[in-house]
Amino acid sequence: MKGNYKKFYDDIKSTIETSRLYTDQIRNLAYGTDAGFYRLIPQIIVRAMNEEEVQKALLLANKYELPVTFRAAGTSLAGQAITDSILIVAGKNWEGFDVLKKGEEISMQPGIVGARVNQILAPYGRKLGPDPASINSAMIGGIVMNNASGMNCGTHENSYKTILSARLIFADGTVLDTGSDESKKIFLKSHASFIQKIEHMRDRVRANQTLADRIGYKYSIKNTTGLSINPFIDYFDPFQIIVNLLVGSEGTLAFMSELTMKTVVNPKFKASAMIYFHDIVSACESVVSMKPGPVHGAEMLDRIALRSVENADGIPPFIKDFPEGVTAILVETLANSKQELDDNINEIKSLLKDYKTVRPIEFTDKAEEYSKYWDIRKGVFPAVGGLREKGTTCIIEDVAFHLEDLPQATADLQELIAKYGYKDGVIYGHALEGNFHFIFNQNFDKPEELEQYKNFMAEVDSLVVDKYDGSLKAEHGTGRNMAPFVKHEWGEEAYQLMKEIKHLFDPKNLLNPGVIINDDPECYTKGFKTLAPVHEIVDTCIECGFCEVNCLTAGFSLSARQRTVVQREIRRLEMTEEDNERLKELRKGFDYLGEQTCAGDGLCATSCPVGIDTGKYIKYLRSLNMASARPQKQSQWVADNFQKLGPVIRGSLKFVNGVHTVLGSSLLDVVAGGFRTLSGNTIPLWTSSMPKGANAPKLKPAREGNPLKVVYFPSCIAQTMGPAKGDPYKQPLHIVTLNLLEKAGYEVIFPEKMSSLCCGTPWESKGFIKHADQKSSELEAALDKASEGGRYPILCDTSPCLYRMRRVMDEKLKLYEPVEFIHEFLMSKLTFTKLDEVVAIHANCTTTKMGLTPQLRTVAEACAQQVVLPGEVGCCGFAGDRGFNFPEVNTYALRKLRPVLNESKVVAGYSNSRTCEIGLSNNGGVPYQSIIYLVDRVTESKCYALK
Ligand SMILES: Cc1cc2nc3c(=O)[nH]c(=O)nc-3n(C[C@H](O)[C@H](O)[C@H](O)COP(=O)(O)OP(=O)(O)OC[C@H]3O[C@@H](n4cnc5c(N)ncnc54)[C@H](O)[C@@H]3O)c2cc1C
Repeated sequence: MKGNYKKFYDDIKSTIETSRLYTDQIRNLAYGTDAGFYRLIPQIIVRAMNEEEVQKALLLANKYELPVTFRAAGTSLAGQAITDSILIVAGKNWEGFDVLKKGEEISMQPGIVGARVNQILAPYGRKLGPDPASINSAMIGGIVMNNASGMNCGTHENSYKTILSARLIFADGTVLDTGSDESKKIFLKSHASFIQKIEHMRDRVRANQTLADRIGYKYSIKNTTGLSINPFIDYFDPFQIIVNLLVGSEGTLAFMSELTMKTVVNPKFKASAMIYFHDIVSACESVVSMKPGPVHGAEMLDRIALRSVENADGIPPFIKDFPEGVTAILVETLANSKQELDDNINEIKSLLKDYKTVRPIEFTDKAEEYSKYWDIRKGVFPAVGGLREKGTTCIIEDVAFHLEDLPQATADLQELIAKYGYKDGVIYGHALEGNFHFIFNQNFDKPEELEQYKNFMAEVDSLVVDKYDGSLKAEHGTGRNMAPFVKHEWGEEAYQLMKEIKHLFDPKNLLNPGVIINDDPECYTKGFKTLAPVHEIVDTCIECGFCEVNCLTAGFSLSARQRTVVQREIRRLEMTEEDNERLKELRKGFDYLGEQTCAGDGLCATSCPVGIDTGKYIKYLRSLNMASARPQKQSQWVADNFQKLGPVIRGSLKFVNGVHTVLGSSLLDVVAGGFRTLSGNTIPLWTSSMPKGANAPKLKPAREGNPLKVVYFPSCIAQTMGPAKGDPYKQPLHIVTLNLLEKAGYEVIFPEKMSSLCCGTPWESKGFIKHADQKSSELEAALDKASEGGRYPILCDTSPCLYRMRRVMDEKLKLYEPVEFIHEFLMSKLTFTKLDEVVAIHANCTTTKMGLTPQLRTVAEACAQQVVLPGEVGCCGFAGDRGFNFPEVNTYALRKLRPVLNESKVVAGYSNSRTCEIGLSNNGGVPYQSIIYLVDRVTESKCYALK
């Protein structure tokens, strides 16, 4: 860090703690990535927490004349969320909201994820207007600043149409809240000439009929090329003009710290149909015919797009056999009643009666069916990107035509893609709005490949602008990618107006310079990412960032996407031997930020459109680190002598529990924390939520007449760890489970030599795959014998252990997780009496991956009057035993837990993994125990009264 950056850093340190200012190589690289195909490496990353911090950063940037870029979720595609200067990240920690007017409006901070807003609005029957396919990951700040839109919102419900007011921080640090009269009054005084200039531009545009008409025409379809200049004709009030100028401004005009939007009705009755046409032109013509009808959305998927998703869950198998050319239109209709929905479907069918379709038109109104279609549609881009050849860059373009031009323009586009030899080029998208994306995979290794790309883009420009007067960017924003083409699309006069706006808001050109307005005609061909192949598990990653909502270390150390980014760069440096020092620093930094702090829970895969489990990749890296003789020998010894560990663990836990009794909880926490600090964090953190040792499980004699049999395998953790000192239920889990099973009429069978058995998870998570498999094979053999070859069900009381068992063991073994077993077998055999208490439940990562959260809720709701499932708490990050050594990961992952528990007055929490429960109790402030305790407490046998 040199010159003014050093001065900036030294100054900002007094306002923002250094743990939120990054300047190291590894994080600079990791944050230099958004979902687009460009990379810039920032000098300083500022993880701002509040307005004052952003204001301070902007004032200093202004003082030292340093460019600043803002970042929400970083899912932008056109190179607008990256910088080689200062990056201000305002995502996590900016997630506040306030529902207004019974859900008709909502105020939000910029870091709240779009899908979360829709969850909040669902009980009011409303949702956000803008609906980008990335809504599960994109944050409202980014959605508004890109004027992102999607499959159904068109131009009538996008951010531009639904924004009401905003709180802004300008480049000079001034704050304006256009929703506050007081703030506007102050701004009018301090920035009178600014407002006059806005009014002047407005009056000039309105007086210029040709320009006003052009603006009207251009925005009659989706358009995010250039700055939004329509506010001058759509609004009169200068403050409203300012707010709407901000929409789609891609962080080039001001920072938005809060905004209020109108919401839209989310009709209850919905139906969709995937309609297959013989060719792309007739598919587009059908959309023109449907446009006047009751159609809410019509998405096109060309033959290659269909091929990219043909193995997705929910896609009909017959798609694979379609001939070339078959094109699908996914149609949606909405209604307020069933009758209206049926009428809509009939009307759409009648609008399409003259079209020949490959299969009869079939609508479905079943949410579980149509939502799969829409998920498949949302996954096209990443799926195509995931299929690309190694080393190529997946490029997505985003054009719009006036609807009447769509059939011919699409045919032209298809021809153009073929002319340039992009064999895997795909066209798909929002046909109803004349907005198509096309994706192609480009190599940039040789000069002629770059030339090919430039020539292709020149022809795209000419086709879209000169031939059809359409939009070069319809919804993804201009970014760096389309900046050189803005003037050609809009013409000189409109372009000069955009420059004038930029100059007014940002006279020193410090806010995201080079984005939207860029004088370099070649800027779109510079700074491409390199995607060196690293391992087959992650090679298909397109760095879209969808994993980050489920990656518990996103915003703490590195996210799943960032882990891949760093590994790719390490690999590139290894291959090129370009910069050894940098390579060393990246490797060193990755050890903690990338490897040690990854929980390996694999939840990232659940939101990755191509299912990449970065946790699995990290475990693979761990296995490389553990490949040397010494750790292998140690691991082998533990695997071979596992039964010797139980008494040792029990003994130590009992010893510490004794210390706990003497010291009390507060003192134990302080003393243990002190020891850990003194050891340089090498000894695990012992807390008051740590368990006591549990006595080894023993079977009771079977109750006579119990007709059912179950094999019960208490995990090694349940065999050794009992409840914590302050837990409400004092018995070890295996005793309570035996009690519950007996109550429900089961005779329990233990596998032989149980104390030596383990599912292998502890080895797997550390990268000792061979020993993990050795342990799971031993367990499998014992379970096979105990269950008489799969005749009896097998219950394991710990969800993560069961998850691994299910992955690696023979399917003939009927393996059950506790919630699943209770739900499927015990509920009908027990009488439940609900507790008059508020209880929390935690679906750990494996419960989530096995899709058992609904069952967990059902079981808990049978037990307690009120059940809280904290909405924004995902994997706890304890990760088996990792939470003992890296408790900071656990604390970060559960940072939102305690406020929800306090607010809901929760008295106890329930889950189904003992180590997760330690972390949950520590960070939630209420004891967490297995759901089995709760069920046992509130149930009685239907078969007999227990004595
Ligand atoms: C697979 C995939 C599918 C996509 N599908 C769609 C789609 O259907 N429709 C669509 O429109 N887009 C789509 N996108 C693009 C992208 O997801 C959207 O544009 C999204 O709205 C960006 O939101 P974000 O939170 O990631 O913002 P970011 O990428 O972080 O930022 C977006 C822009 O806003 C600026 N910014 C962020 N926060 C602020 C703030 N507080 N104040 C001022 N400026 C700020 C940034 O500087 C940047 O220029 C898709 C992307 C991917 C990867």
